[in-house]
Amino acid sequence: MDRKNHINFWYFLIAFLAIVLLRDLWAQWAGVEPIPYSEFQTLLRDGQIERIAIGAEQITGTLKRPTAAGRSQFVTTRVEPGLAAMLAEHGVEFRGQTESKLFATVLSWVLPALIFVGIWMFAIRRIAEQGGLGGMGGGLMSIGKSKARVYVETDIDVTFADVAGVDEAIEELKEIVEFLKEPDKHGVLGARIPKGVLLVGPPGTGKTLLARAVAGESGVPFFSISGSEFVEMFVGVGAARVRDLFEQARKRAPCIVFIDELDAMGRARGAFSVGGHDEKEQTLNQLLVELDGFDPKVGIVLLAATNRPEILDPALLRAGRFDRQVLVDRPDKKGRVQILKVHMRKVRAASAVELEDVAALTPGFTGADLANLVNEAALIATRRRASEVTMDDFTRAVERIVAGLEKKNRLLNPKERRIVAHHEMGHALVAMALPGADQVHKVSIIPRGIGALGYTIQRPTEDRFLMTRAELETKLAVLLAGRAAEALVFGEISTGAADDVRKATEIARSMVARYGMDEALGNVAYDEEASPYLNLPAGLPQGVPRFGPDTARMIDEAVKRITDQAFARASAVLAANRPLLVEAAERLLVQETLERDGLEALRGRLRPGEAAA
Ligand code: ADP
Ligand code: MG
Ligand code: ZN
Repeated sequence: MDRKNHINFWYFLIAFLAIVLLRDLWAQWAGVEPIPYSEFQTLLRDGQIERIAIGAEQITGTLKRPTAAGRSQFVTTRVEPGLAAMLAEHGVEFRGQTESKLFATVLSWVLPALIFVGIWMFAIRRIAEQGGLGGMGGGLMSIGKSKARVYVETDIDVTFADVAGVDEAIEELKEIVEFLKEPDKHGVLGARIPKGVLLVGPPGTGKTLLARAVAGESGVPFFSISGSEFVEMFVGVGAARVRDLFEQARKRAPCIVFIDELDAMGRARGAFSVGGHDEKEQTLNQLLVELDGFDPKVGIVLLAATNRPEILDPALLRAGRFDRQVLVDRPDKKGRVQILKVHMRKVRAASAVELEDVAALTPGFTGADLANLVNEAALIATRRRASEVTMDDFTRAVERIVAGLEKKNRLLNPKERRIVAHHEMGHALVAMALPGADQVHKVSIIPRGIGALGYTIQRPTEDRFLMTRAELETKLAVLLAGRAAEALVFGEISTGAADDVRKATEIARSMVARYGMDEALGNVAYDEEASPYLNLPAGLPQGVPRFGPDTARMIDEAVKRITDQAFARASAVLAANRPLLVEAAERLLVQETLERDGLEALRGRLRPGEAAA
């Protein structure tokens, strides 16, 4: 419940009390003279009274002549007759008294009501705070003021210079900025500006940032609303809000309307219809109506962002609606350097910090991850009271983010530590022995995060877009080398390799069923591509097998053959270097981490071992 409702309630209560009290006072003072009972008796004796009305407690009457105060009505409270006679005998002035019951009466009505209302308000507030009952509290209370819950910003100071590493997306959006700056000029050539532009990409790649930058560059008002806000309890509220949003935007064109997290409201109708189904449908329908209803020439550009385009309703994506899609993908290495540069503006870094190296350590990071990384590095530097952020701070920040927070207090027993050390050294040695494997950056047996008991950080020499079969096979051998080392040294395998095995299986399966790399199965894609961004409407169920049971068995066998070969290859390398493996693992047990220098020394002593495979 909000403050306004409180105030309304109190106004009401006070007004009610005031009316009751005033009426009573009015009756007492307007024209009616309260007199003592003794005076009543005197007046009666003197024949001054015209007529009277006798109540249980009070006697009211009319005087023949008005009193000094000009009142001709009087009221007196009765006194017990015996007592009155006695008092009159002794010439005492006396009056009866009634305990005013008014207050008590009012109180007996109002107090329970007050207590009840208090409890009710308390309960409602609690529910609203907890956001429980599907936001019932919030929904209940906010239904009345759902209007104008639209956010408009002007003078946004974000520009394209703040968004790095997504040059292609910016290139596409520049046209929109041009249009917003001079809407009239655009019509001349007859070109139709797209009505809706959908920014698509993984979370944290800068979609929201880009939308704001478009507004900042073109200097127009920026109306933004998030799809998740439309998840309301009452049918019709979301639709009303959409109508409201466009109404306001139309008044302020040229402007940008930005719907963030479009997937939250634009899910395909009919699908996922668990609760709130009608509501979503209405909201979506209203959005479609608005999309069709406005003429882009008035200068409204609709931007939206989503990281799940595959679940959007196909109706949203058809021509004339969100008909242009801009991919905002994870940055490549060059992009990462640029993004780091943007975020390093705020940080004082040592001159030795090579952003190239930081970028090389962070394949797959999004813009948001990199922003977080810079912040984390600065925090680490602050904690050791340094005046500058160094490369070392960055390396540690990367480790922290990649492998989760360091957990020094998680104790492995000595036997487990030995297993982990051999496992990790197995990965490292095989990676160093096999040509074409990613370079090993660091090996550690400090447990981190959930699940990782140790880790080997490999550093790809460059971003890869294509991989050959030989490279994939090498990758598999490196992945399975941890388990191979355990088997070789302890004659026993452990659960520590679960994640490696899962990854290896995935790669092998892709080689067979997606890349067509198995001779027996041929150049056939049996599995669907795992939904890449921009894979248009997912009306069709995904991942339905396109092969019969015999082929399924062949695929499974091929996957097993490939992983078995990789395991054998890793085992062969390790068998040829067994003394080195044991020695290096012992060193790792003592030092906990091995970095480049230590690893280089090992590399010099490796025997190829490939011949044995
Ligand atoms: P999304 O909307 O795609 O999930 P955001 O736009 O909210 O991601 O990005 C979150 C934050 O990450 C931004 O505020 C910014 O600090 C940082 N960031 C993301 N992408 C970039 C980028 N390409 N360039 C610079 N900073 C970025
Ligand atoms: Mg966002
Ligand atoms: Zn492993």
